[in-house]
Amino acid sequence: MVKSNMLISKSVNFAAELEKAVPAQRLLIDEPMSKHTTFRIGGPADYFVLPETVQEVADVLHIAKQFAVPVTVLGNGSNVLVLDRGIRGLVLKFGPEMANIRHSGNTVFAGAGALLANVSRYAAQYDLTGFEFAIGIPGSIGGAVFMNAGAYDGDMSQVVQAVTAVCQDGGVKRFEREALNFGYRHSVFQETGCLICEVELALEKGINTSIRGRLDDYTEKRQTKQPIEMPSAGSTFKRPQGHFAGTLIEKAGLKGVSVGGAQVSTKHAGFIINAGDATAQDVLALICKVQDSVYKQFGVSLHPEVRILGDA
Ligand SMILES: Cc1cc2nc3c(=O)[nH]c(=O)nc-3n(C[C@H](O)[C@H](O)[C@H](O)COP(=O)(O)OP(=O)(O)OC[C@H]3O[C@@H](n4cnc5c(N)ncnc54)[C@H](O)[C@@H]3O)c2cc1C
Repeated sequence: MVKSNMLISKSVNFAAELEKAVPAQRLLIDEPMSKHTTFRIGGPADYFVLPETVQEVADVLHIAKQFAVPVTVLGNGSNVLVLDRGIRGLVLKFGPEMANIRHSGNTVFAGAGALLANVSRYAAQYDLTGFEFAIGIPGSIGGAVFMNAGAYDGDMSQVVQAVTAVCQDGGVKRFEREALNFGYRHSVFQETGCLICEVELALEKGINTSIRGRLDDYTEKRQTKQPIEMPSAGSTFKRPQGHFAGTLIEKAGLKGVSVGGAQVSTKHAGFIINAGDATAQDVLALICKVQDSVYKQFGVSLHPEVRILGDA
């Protein structure tokens, strides 16, 4: 009884402190994460904050540290599976509130919440080339740096010049290209826990018609080959060396196989889709089923590319 009273007063104090850092309309309690993920899956976050400035991010992190409240970051929620009981502690979402895009010469500066499609279109508008690959990736630029997202032979490592981030102590830090430690679907931020706030891209002057041609081409390819009309988190698994996950899954006869509302897409076996009211548990069970079957038939281990967040 004493313990629960202490916990309640602690959380009341925490919420009160947060309200000093961000206005009440950008601080939500028990916010369902299914509203913020492209899978349309995920239980509630205890506290959910939409920061507008780097200073707000730093202030919120500082308060969370004082109260020992765990912090989780979300961009556009297009590469995450949030579990059914949701996320304990605080979720900071980088969305349209931190999505300013500008440029100087061939350098584009984008707030972490800027959507990749908007950055691609912005670059095209100013005849800047090098970011066309990102047109159809439905993430924020912060999430894309974290994941080193890529497509059509391009990825973030080829264009990111520097990143400004807020680290766990609340300090603002600039990471130059050499410090970003990019690898296949990997960046230094998967180790540091720093929150990406602004990204600088080094692009090149290009020819407008060629840039727009590539944007159209990539968009059409996605529309015909990927189940973009269904909720998902994109490719479920990382590419195993020497193979394509989708091809192995298809060859294993798993296209269309489902567990509850989760289904291996019939359009592209590399995607698990939410075919209707899927729970995170359904998706996890289907991931295991696919991993087992592919391993038994081909001896290849599949590892999820999708980041799993929260409590089961
Ligand atoms: C239909 C579809 C197609 C896709 N196609 C591709 C593709 O071609 N190539 C590809 O690489 N990916 C693809 N994806 C996956 C996804 O879009 C990318 O990984 C994207 O970059 C994730 O960005 P996000 O903002 O949605 O990140 P989220 O899903 O919100 O987060 C992903 C990870 O990044 C962390 N993160 C997010 N923002 C920040 C930040 N500001 N600071 C620190 N950490 C942060 C999160 O904590 C989480 O661990 C696809 C997804 C879908 C649904």
